[in-house]
Amino acid sequence: MTTTHTASKQVPTTTGPSSPADEALRRQLAASIPEQRFLDCVHCGLCLSACPTYLETGDENDSPRGRIYLMRAVADGRLNLTPEATSHLEACLDCRACETACPSGVKYGRLIEPFKVAMESDAVRESSVRSGPITQATNLLTSTLLTKLFPSAKLTQWALWPARWLQQWGLDGLARSWPARLMTPEILQRMHRLLPKLSPPAPPLPELLPPVGTKRATVALFTGCVAEAMFSQTNRATARVLQHNGCEVLVPRSQGCCGAIHYHNGDRTQAIALARQNLASFPWREIDAVIVNVAGCGAMLKDYGHIGEEDPAISPVLLEELGSFAGSVRDVSEFLMALGPVAPGHPVPLKAVYHDACHLCHAQKIRQQPRDLLAMVPGLEIAPIEEAEICCGAAGSYNLTQPDMADRLGRRKAKHIRDVPGVAAVLTGNAGCALQLAASLSESGSPLPVMHIMDILDKSYGPLPSTDSDD
Ligand code: SF4
Ligand code: SF4
Repeated sequence: MTTTHTASKQVPTTTGPSSPADEALRRQLAASIPEQRFLDCVHCGLCLSACPTYLETGDENDSPRGRIYLMRAVADGRLNLTPEATSHLEACLDCRACETACPSGVKYGRLIEPFKVAMESDAVRESSVRSGPITQATNLLTSTLLTKLFPSAKLTQWALWPARWLQQWGLDGLARSWPARLMTPEILQRMHRLLPKLSPPAPPLPELLPPVGTKRATVALFTGCVAEAMFSQTNRATARVLQHNGCEVLVPRSQGCCGAIHYHNGDRTQAIALARQNLASFPWREIDAVIVNVAGCGAMLKDYGHIGEEDPAISPVLLEELGSFAGSVRDVSEFLMALGPVAPGHPVPLKAVYHDACHLCHAQKIRQQPRDLLAMVPGLEIAPIEEAEICCGAAGSYNLTQPDMADRLGRRKAKHIRDVPGVAAVLTGNAGCALQLAASLSESGSPLPVMHIMDILDKSYGPLPSTDSDD
């Protein structure tokens, strides 16, 4: 894949007097990011070749080192948050590939995440004028969809009915016709592009699912919001795989969204409110683990303690609870490999590639466990892929809010997948990646099936001995 490099120069760091928005931003940054985190970066540049946006643009300001420089200059008062600086920071995927590459242990996620929270906060937004192609109305629609609709599996299910009917009646192409495109806001067109083949809504999972054979562990399953609305079969497959491995599976009905969408859109207050809801829903102190099968949600749940630390208003008791809950969270592959998985028996003859979700391999450092689980499936061949750890462009809601770069990265990933001779499927551990990969492959003329690794393991374990406990 050819990398396009443009002339690279740093955004200038003298930008005139500060506005009230700049002052508000600096106050928030001082409260949430200790200066030492910026100083940990020694500007060696070893992270540059790992950064997807730098690989695509070749612009220093789109690199981890450049963004750290920009963030520090803004925090220090040497740079105001100009539209140019904002665009380079907003273009960051928060994929954290730079953390994996950095020999100095820079916690880049602990810089860009609170920085984006401060940048998107009401106090800063209300008193700043943002330039760019997205209008205020579009911003409002985007924010409403992201923070009000998506975090509710029920609301998302309802909102998907028109798309489901169009798919059922074979009229899905209508939504792509030019009159429909003319009348539909771009974000809705982007959402439609990502939609998978929708199944009818599944009935809720039972609140308690028994283990197959002798009980080895008690776990609680985090079912998510968008993931439950669009990939309910994967949650059910995950529950069955856990049952096959001797787990009693609790599925608390009162659980909520992990809060990642809110947090990444600047609403830390709502993210912490959702964290509190999950603390009240999951009996995390009495079970072996809270299990997650979506990499982005897992990274967020594991970060509850750190996010709490950014908010000076949080009590020490709540901070301890957030940290303790976070410590109980496990990705399903991580948990099964630690438990010692029961070998699945049914062959799944398939040549596939495994796509590393950024929030699994970089944020959670989970690379080998999914591969080890897949290696147990008889007949399944996993082929290597170039740039396996480079983001596919999904990155939470990035493929809705940064369409140009998301599409470039989607095409880059699709090419690497198509370059694998005989590949018949793509496997991953993140619902957002599955949507982005399926859309990118389809647009590249190779509509390969994209599945969660739990879907494949479920096939290989086969049905439960009794259907009493299954939906
Ligand atoms: S998080 Fe990803 S996109 Fe952002 S600077 Fe790091 S490597 Fe680049
Ligand atoms: S983030 Fe790490 S790898 Fe990148 S320039 Fe700074 S110290 Fe070097």
